[in-house]
Amino acid sequence: MKPETKAIHALNHTEAATGDVSMPISLSTTFYRAEDGGYPGGHMYSRVSNPNRSALESVITALEFGAETCTFSSGNTAGMAVFQALDPGSHIIAPDDMYWGFKKQLQSMFSTTLSFDFIDLTAIENIDSYVKPETKMIWVETPSNPLLKISDIEAIGKICKQHHLILACDSTFASPMLQNPLTLGADIVMHSTTKYIGGHSDVLGGSLTTATVNPFWEKIRNIQQIGGAVQSPFDCYLLLRSIKTLAYRIKGHCENAMELAKYLAAHPKVEFVYYPGLISHPQHEIAKKQMKNFGGMLSILVTGGAESARKVVNSVQLFSQATSLGGVESLIEHRASVEGPDTKTPQNLIRISVGLEHVDDIKEDLNQALAQI
Ligand SMILES: *Cc1c(COP(=O)(O)O)cnc(C)c1O
Repeated sequence: MKPETKAIHALNHTEAATGDVSMPISLSTTFYRAEDGGYPGGHMYSRVSNPNRSALESVITALEFGAETCTFSSGNTAGMAVFQALDPGSHIIAPDDMYWGFKKQLQSMFSTTLSFDFIDLTAIENIDSYVKPETKMIWVETPSNPLLKISDIEAIGKICKQHHLILACDSTFASPMLQNPLTLGADIVMHSTTKYIGGHSDVLGGSLTTATVNPFWEKIRNIQQIGGAVQSPFDCYLLLRSIKTLAYRIKGHCENAMELAKYLAAHPKVEFVYYPGLISHPQHEIAKKQMKNFGGMLSILVTGGAESARKVVNSVQLFSQATSLGGVESLIEHRASVEGPDTKTPQNLIRISVGLEHVDDIKEDLNQALAQI
């Protein structure tokens, strides 16, 4: 099946007595046992598994060409489960512009149990020199946030094979429709399902999908079921509902973002546009190789520094000035002020999550906001 079809049909069909075409929400926390002590419905207790979560996990598994998926109550929890599954003393190589929530997590929660180096993963030739005897994992995030850097998953996968390292990839910005890291050599792919997979800015969630079921994966499954940071059946239902339109939403996001990127690249108030679809993007060729299209996220540098960046985000009318991304509505954000004083993000950078409004309206709004500086 093609991705569009999988998104609609890959979930386990439960032909309920009622004949529901859409899967009902199963709120029960506990499930009947049979005389022999077994669980004829396949579920025992909803922290361990429930029908809506199992369906969500099987759809994401199908879309990512994986073996199994664990979903969690947020993207941060999904990432945390990976870090928790590493043996104490392990060393991780992570991107210098890693999603700041994960960087904070490693620095504030794992500094006594794990060690890490944050490096530029686009400089492939340098990676080897950071591998130590205790290195266990390379964590890749591509496209990255907020500079839209593209890391070569296949090339980093080869380095991981050579040194027996786990390769995990935060693929949130791409969604399963644009990039499938497991087919390029990654062992685990992570999504903040809060973003494109949810797509409507109304549900928080995270997922991990593994290429193979192995002891490391069993630890992650244990952290999900025993740790218990699971999603509610209603959240799983919302995500399943969203996934059905994911392919078409992503097409719209990509189309709008490409046109907007070209428009902004020619705008006199814009110094640079970070969008992997533009030839001016330093890793455009890698993006072309590993992605089906270039996504709905872009960042721009505006003329005049932090003050004018703040002026632009305060002058938009159609855009919502808010953090997060991947929803149907266009969002705009002055990134440095969200990330705090120790950020390396340029002060004149504005991050844009291009929504599904008509692109002419999006352009017009940005144009009038840029005219204020
Ligand atoms: C949002 C985000 C996360 C964290 O996900 P939450 O659902 O907010 O916990 C992780 N990685 C990336 C790239 C993100 O954009």
